[in-house]
Amino acid sequence: MGSRTDRLSPFLVMEILERAGELQRAGTEVIHLEVGEPDFPTPECIREAGLEAIRRGHTRYTPSLGLPELREAIAEDYRRRYGVAVSPEQVVVTSGTSPALLLLFGALLEPGDEVLLPDPHYACYPNFIRFLEGQPVFFPLRAAEGYQYDRDRIRAARTPRTVALMVNSPANPTGAVLSRETLAALAEEDLWLISDEIYHGLVYEGRAHSILEFTDRAFVLNGFSKRYAMTGWRLGYVIAPLPFIRPMQIMAQNFFISPADFVQHAGLAALRQAEPDVQRMVAEYARRRAFLLPALQALGFGLDTLPAGAYYVLARAERFSRDSRSLAQELLEKAHVAVTPGIDFGPAAEGYLRFSYANSLENLQAGIARLQAYLAASPREAG
Ligand code: PMP
Repeated sequence: MGSRTDRLSPFLVMEILERAGELQRAGTEVIHLEVGEPDFPTPECIREAGLEAIRRGHTRYTPSLGLPELREAIAEDYRRRYGVAVSPEQVVVTSGTSPALLLLFGALLEPGDEVLLPDPHYACYPNFIRFLEGQPVFFPLRAAEGYQYDRDRIRAARTPRTVALMVNSPANPTGAVLSRETLAALAEEDLWLISDEIYHGLVYEGRAHSILEFTDRAFVLNGFSKRYAMTGWRLGYVIAPLPFIRPMQIMAQNFFISPADFVQHAGLAALRQAEPDVQRMVAEYARRRAFLLPALQALGFGLDTLPAGAYYVLARAERFSRDSRSLAQELLEKAHVAVTPGIDFGPAAEGYLRFSYANSLENLQAGIARLQAYLAASPREAG
């Protein structure tokens, strides 16, 4: 077995999901508040465009960097939304944001190079970095500070080997949206900035800024999974400074050949036609959020800051247990509610649980009712 994979850790949310699946096969109905996947079907205009593309025979390899018209539409989308100048030549289309992370870190990192990551962070980031022989280095975020990145803590974590800083806003797992001031300050650091903007569009208070509004010394990762409810289509992209495009192209040619042809046509329809569908989904997420936040507080979970984006709530659960993994297991086995343990996202989120509201209001209400009944029947010491 290769030592490369020894460096990786399992994705705990997938393990919870798998155990929930076992319970369901045994006849138990589980409420899913763990998965970060929109419950909405992909909007009709996108599905139709995908079907039409198949009918028209768009079932072949495309250029490895993606269809020229999709790269143009993505550049135009960034120009329109953020007022930033992106050339289509800077866009690499991939089969999801996950392969985009692989290409980006593959092009950027020398063995031993350090990448600064917030703690908590999306669980897969450190594994991509370790797999490519880089070194993730963590700086803590604090709920009481609204999970804004603190420059002093970033500077304290820097070493001469640090090459890049990872930014994720709106964030998984905190739902935090970084302020204009925070992003502007980060852009002054003499580092590559890597901004995962996959939750852009899903914002309920204020607005999300692209890192490109503040610096060109940056990479943007983005994808269609979340904003357009297209997880299973596998479509994403990276916007990179021009010198990095050729190395990424060579990796893409060898490792992936090209993203799926008809899926890219569906992606074009998403960018051109699906904005009203996105607005409808965002309005529904906002309704769920308005229910879930106070409901969690009423159960005794702590929210030191209110999440403004994505569809996650990272709630303090120390009152129930300091061990988030065993608490999540207990809630799954006993209350049949699946949630994600904070520890999946780094030590700073230990003692927290992540709740996802990418599930219907009815299911959220049922989940809260189950948690309430279970927690009331099993009182614990304040922790
Ligand atoms: N980044 C973040 C922060 C995510 O939460 C996810 C999905 N959970 C991804 C990237 C990967 O998404 P995809 O590969 O579906 O584009």
